[in-house]
Amino acid sequence: MRSMKVLIIDDDVDSLAIARLRLKKDGYIIHSAGDGLEGLERAREVDPDVILLDVQMPGKSGFQVCEDLKSDPDLCNIPVVFLSAADDISEKVKGLDLGAVDYVTKPFDIFELRARVRAALRTKRLQELLLKYGEVDSLTEIYNRRVLMERLQQEWDRSLRSNTIFSFIMTDIDEFKNVNDTFGHPVGDDVLEKVAYKLKKSIRSGDIVGRYGGEEFGIIMVNSTVQEAFVAADRYRQEIKKIVFKAKKASFSVTASFGVADSSEKDSLDNLVSAADSAMYEAKESGRNKVCMSD
Ligand SMILES: [Mg+2]
Repeated sequence: MRSMKVLIIDDDVDSLAIARLRLKKDGYIIHSAGDGLEGLERAREVDPDVILLDVQMPGKSGFQVCEDLKSDPDLCNIPVVFLSAADDISEKVKGLDLGAVDYVTKPFDIFELRARVRAALRTKRLQELLLKYGEVDSLTEIYNRRVLMERLQQEWDRSLRSNTIFSFIMTDIDEFKNVNDTFGHPVGDDVLEKVAYKLKKSIRSGDIVGRYGGEEFGIIMVNSTVQEAFVAADRYRQEIKKIVFKAKKASFSVTASFGVADSSEKDSLDNLVSAADSAMYEAKESGRNKVCMSD
């Protein structure tokens, strides 16, 4: 693996020297800059894997540098760890709001600093992997539609080979447009995130959940008949209903409608998907917040 590059932007010569010395021992390539402007230049030049950024600097402050980094498409994905002399909560909050991943108080404990740098690099590697393979939906962090369809195809092929049955569950959040209209899109996004998370936590290991479209999700249940999928889907339905969302002064919950179908007696994968889809529409039309089974 290549050596990771750390850029330290700090006007304090001593703290810079300490950090440089210790981090170098961990095998990082260290770059440094003594003020904000130089720091931004160095960042563009060396494309570091992580930036340690002092808050209090003459000229451009660390906060301003962070804002500049985050608004530059080439630099915005580099994790920033703030270094600050002040152990001040509001300052920490400000830094994190600006998109920093972490905070270390000066004079820093060198073990803490090394641990924070490692954590920031781990997060970045993970992000890169997910983006590289383009498998994950960026909002809900579950599989995107493309991957879901690929996995469906694999499961379909396998069920033909091994002569087994699997199920597909489609679910759609009821009256989701109302959530967006009433509370705004950020709250709507929160609903999508939490419902996806709930589904991910609720499915059996080996099953797969993905975002099928807007407020629609698909679940592949391996080795399961439509009756088994029905029972599972009803459990997911109840779990979703229990989530409490907060918006301004209101709190609310949502429901979802489900359609389930299995692979038996289907002559193609398309037929399976449209059977689950029609069952879901039946659930919608007969009052929502329910599970319907394809016959
Ligand atoms: Mg300083």
